[in-house]
Amino acid sequence: MPSGPKSKPETPKSPAEARVNRDPMPSQILDGRALSSLFRAELKSRVSDLRAKGVVPRLEAIVAAQDPASVAYVRMKRNWAEKAGMESGSWEASENTTQTELMDRIATLNDDPNVHGILLQHPLPKHLDEDAALLALGAEKDVDGISPASLGRLTAGLPGFRCATPLGIMRILAHYEIPLVGKRAIVIGRSVILGKPMALMLLEANATVTVAHSRTLDLPDLVRQHDIIVAAVGRAEMVKGDWLKPGAVVVDAGYNKVDGRSSDVGDCDFDSCAEIASWITPVPGGVGPMTVTSLLMNCVDAAELSL
Ligand code: NAP
Repeated sequence: MPSGPKSKPETPKSPAEARVNRDPMPSQILDGRALSSLFRAELKSRVSDLRAKGVVPRLEAIVAAQDPASVAYVRMKRNWAEKAGMESGSWEASENTTQTELMDRIATLNDDPNVHGILLQHPLPKHLDEDAALLALGAEKDVDGISPASLGRLTAGLPGFRCATPLGIMRILAHYEIPLVGKRAIVIGRSVILGKPMALMLLEANATVTVAHSRTLDLPDLVRQHDIIVAAVGRAEMVKGDWLKPGAVVVDAGYNKVDGRSSDVGDCDFDSCAEIASWITPVPGGVGPMTVTSLLMNCVDAAELSL
């Protein structure tokens, strides 16, 4: 089991001081890929117990046919589900799909006792009303945790499916025993699927939470006042090492395509951040794998609850 952060971080007065005071050791890696493999091994055994009881956990996706990235994400999620012994399916919404067809599909999945999880892969084609679709999603099958019902439960502190990406991040922080109680955490980004639920989950874990967004002033100075940074922005390598106080913990949820780069990059400039942070997630191999694993864990939870 890895140890906690190496030293108690002090707030630097300036970026230069941050560099001078930094721990000479490089950051330790919050390895979401390795953690995801551990959780998926456990998942396999839960699925096999369910199968022995006659229940096969089933995940059904709804995805925009014309969005290659979404189609690829759903293919990967289904592939991982099937490797865990689950079943999966997907329904493609095209530019010809009507709102009535979409709502009928959701009603059919809500009513099907063999379906335990419904994944509405964002974004759906623009002409479709995604909010109406999310409102129609049964909370007991919303394994991605992004419907208003699930988000309301999170806000109220009630049991329910938690949003897969922030849930995966919380699992990473818990596994690596990153202290959260009383720590100052900043979430950069306030989207409904990521930034807002992330802030609520950190709050639930007794961190003192700041939420930053595109109108936030003096972001580097603000970030420098925090112990834990969750970047959820969608801007390649925006957060630099000299924005951090020494020993900060950096979680990079970003996933950005950059022309000329062979692999996607995060919202944090990994090299400069890794010089200052105590712990950091890589991209790829950090938040992404734990998002998919948390989605599947929620789906298996749903199947167990159906017994
Ligand atoms: P989004 O809906 O576009 O939200 C981006 C947020 O960042 C908004 O709240 C926006 O502020 C804020 N923002 C934009 N520019 C900013 C700036 N210069 N300074 C501070 N804040 C700024 O994006 P999302 O869906 O949350 O996704 C964010 C990133 O996470 C993307 O890279 C996405 O690919 C990635 N992601 C990864 C996973 C995973 O599993 N790894 C899952 C979901 C998303 P305003 O609200 O003011 O516009």
